[in-house]
Amino acid sequence: MVNPETPKIKHLSNKVNLLEGILNNVGAYIYSKDLEGRYTYVNQSVLDLFQKTNAEVIGFDDSHFFDLALSQQLKDNDQKVMREAKSLVSEETNYIKGSKEAIIYRTVKSPLFDENNVVIGVCGVSTDITQEKLLQNTINKQKHLLDAVLDNIDSYIYMKDNQRVFKYVNNKVAELFGESAENIIGKKDTEVLPLETAEHFNESDQRVFDSGKKVTIEESSEDENGDIHHFISTKIPLQQQGQLPSLIGFSTDVTELFNLKEEFKKQANTEPLTKLFNRRYFVEHAEREFNRAQRHMSNLALMSIDIDYFKNINDKYGHPAGDKVLIEVSECLNSYIRNEDILARIGGEEFSILLPETTLQAAKEVAERIRVGQSKMSLTGYWQGEINVTVSIGISCLRPNDQSFEQLFSRTDKALYIAKDLGRNAVYYLK
Ligand code: GH3
Ligand code: MG
Ligand code: MG
Repeated sequence: MVNPETPKIKHLSNKVNLLEGILNNVGAYIYSKDLEGRYTYVNQSVLDLFQKTNAEVIGFDDSHFFDLALSQQLKDNDQKVMREAKSLVSEETNYIKGSKEAIIYRTVKSPLFDENNVVIGVCGVSTDITQEKLLQNTINKQKHLLDAVLDNIDSYIYMKDNQRVFKYVNNKVAELFGESAENIIGKKDTEVLPLETAEHFNESDQRVFDSGKKVTIEESSEDENGDIHHFISTKIPLQQQGQLPSLIGFSTDVTELFNLKEEFKKQANTEPLTKLFNRRYFVEHAEREFNRAQRHMSNLALMSIDIDYFKNINDKYGHPAGDKVLIEVSECLNSYIRNEDILARIGGEEFSILLPETTLQAAKEVAERIRVGQSKMSLTGYWQGEINVTVSIGISCLRPNDQSFEQLFSRTDKALYIAKDLGRNAVYYLK
């Protein structure tokens, strides 16, 4: 006789098999326990983990499978769920008996109820996230290490996309801009920098984006105290999948080096006693002016100035007093010239002034003012009495047939010697 229940049972049995198949293949540990913590159900993954058969697990509690001394969390969570009759989502770290290896799970535990709504146990789904966690830890450690390196390196390092948005800045950049790194990342350069500085940076940024090539430049920026910093910057294009074209920039502060270079340049062009330009610088610039004046057929005047009887001053007052006189005469000469004129100490007590766009007549007037002005100056110092010095001045102007600056220079010198011959404290010119 066929039991009328049989198709229904068969159907249910199929369904149980199907469900069991699903539960065994979801890639998670699924289980239920009674109030005493004895397993009432485990899926195949749990059996595999414990390396036991179903008969060896059902009816037994966790003390048989886990090292409970190390897996306290497991017991606590089970009890909490049953006590509070509430689901719990947590990360659990458990140790299988006999193994010293921690397994980390993302676990969802829920209470089980009977028909009267009384808690009769707990069921749970645990996913092994050990590898994920290890990977996360490794990434975190690496990020930490990378941050430490990038923040302590003596360079400004940043990443920007082609929309001018900062994707990364190290601590040094943040300090320079006077903002925290978090406040800079995600913002456009125009939001964190003075407009002029942002535009300046953007110019070379654009060159990187346009060319797709590495660019190395010298650039400068003002810090929050208004001090100018000079940098050597290398910007490298960076294309990441799914991201806007970006660049990585490395800037090294070379302000000290830059200032030193400027100082050396200045030192190379001036002489230390009077701080006036030296002969080398003067001749270099005078030749340039000479060529320019010739090309444009414009006026150019030259003056040679020599202190009269200077040897006597050294002899009478001593060399240091002579030095002081040289400084005073330099200042006197400086006070009579225009910005565009070039004044230099050519030798011991000889000076030259190049006057662009100046006629002979105008040069004579300047020379006369200098001569009179100097003759009226009396120098006092640690020495007894006053020192009065006069100067003699030779002038000449560019001639259309002059072949070189040297020709103009020697003609001016000749005029100076004539002024000396005339009795000193005199101005003489050769047209
Ligand atoms: P003159 O009117 O003909 O120009 O006579 P002078 O004595 O000025 O010219 P002279 O060329 O005979 O002497 C120039 C002196 O300048 C000689 C030199 O010792 C002195 N002298 C050159 N350089 C310096 C310097 O740097 N400091 C001092 N104190 N003296 C210097
Ligand atoms: Mg002299
Ligand atoms: Mg002389």
